[in-house]
Amino acid sequence: MQPVHARYPFFEAAREAVATADVSLPTLVASDAPAVERGRERVERALLEGTVATEADTESDIQTELLSYPIARILVSMLDSSAAVEKYAAAEARTAIKRLRADVEAETGLQSVERERVSLLEILREFDVGQAVREQGQTNAGPTPVDDAAGPLDTGSGTGAGSRAISESSGRIERRRTADSGFRITVGQYLALSSPEWGSEWRLVGRDVAGGEVAVSREELFDLVEAAIRDRILDGLPFDLPADEGIAAELEAQIDGLHQLLKGPSMVGEIDRVVPELFPPCMENLIQKAERGTHLDPSEGFTLMAFLTGIGMDADEIIAFCAETSLDPEGIRYQTEYLRSKTGTQYPPPSCETLAIYEICHNEDNHWKEAGEPLAYYQRQLDETDKQFTDWRERV
Ligand code: SF4
Repeated sequence: MQPVHARYPFFEAAREAVATADVSLPTLVASDAPAVERGRERVERALLEGTVATEADTESDIQTELLSYPIARILVSMLDSSAAVEKYAAAEARTAIKRLRADVEAETGLQSVERERVSLLEILREFDVGQAVREQGQTNAGPTPVDDAAGPLDTGSGTGAGSRAISESSGRIERRRTADSGFRITVGQYLALSSPEWGSEWRLVGRDVAGGEVAVSREELFDLVEAAIRDRILDGLPFDLPADEGIAAELEAQIDGLHQLLKGPSMVGEIDRVVPELFPPCMENLIQKAERGTHLDPSEGFTLMAFLTGIGMDADEIIAFCAETSLDPEGIRYQTEYLRSKTGTQYPPPSCETLAIYEICHNEDNHWKEAGEPLAYYQRQLDETDKQFTDWRERV
């Protein structure tokens, strides 16, 4: 097992490292090895924060980190929720692409002997798209193949037309070229990896298409690689595991906590009124905390966004509503998008029980007894109030 396997556990080589290692997942789970807790954290952070990196941002040992990946896949399968699987895969891909960006930026040409970093070339090859992507030359000499082991290599001294930008020995992108170089990818791969949902700028109409290739910027190439990673993570998920036996039975405790994160009232999407005077105490507390300029931690921010989207507010309305708070518009927009699955399913806000675990609910006046769920409580408040309240959206 190498550090690179722990950082990119979806690589074929990482899969092989797990398969050939002298470890058995059922034994690991039965002995409650650290990889089990790390696997649970992986899924929890994916669902709550859109990342699978460790909370402390210090990675556990290589074996724990690598083995936590198959355990996370088992756990997310047991959740029996397509929205959770989607969120998990997106979070794995987003974390990997963040690491890849850092690796490419840090690339010095000296490969780490411990193989911690990967190059763009290596990751393109991992997904069999090395041959489909070319780096655009700086001059009009035409594109340069990214994956052409037989071709002459740039030694770093050439600056002439068409000199190679990818060093075969290290796979790095020469710094002098990346600032203004783009790439060309075959139309077939471009269409296979991109999605019409990404917006009109991704449509072929209006893009630079020539010779069966589409021009993409470096950032867009990262987006395409992220999609390839997400597809690989999704491949085979969810597993079909027999409930209440074997590894599934051993993971019951972990799955209970994760189920709580997904629990939500069935009324998501049914409420479309914004009356802050009737919000439950937990949401009032979070809003007041943000209004004091205090940073909301990820669980708090997620909870508030899930509630506000759950009562029918869109991103622009939430940004206006939170204008005088510590919440930044970009973060709000990202989270509200994140709370919706590809199919448009709204991610439910956590239950009161979960909010108590996260110490977001302080159970004022034994509020649990009458609430049950923040959204259900709010709906009851709307139904039972005698006062006439104008929807906040019509007050501004
Ligand atoms: S009981 Fe539920 S609705 Fe009431 S404050 Fe706690 S989390 Fe919010």
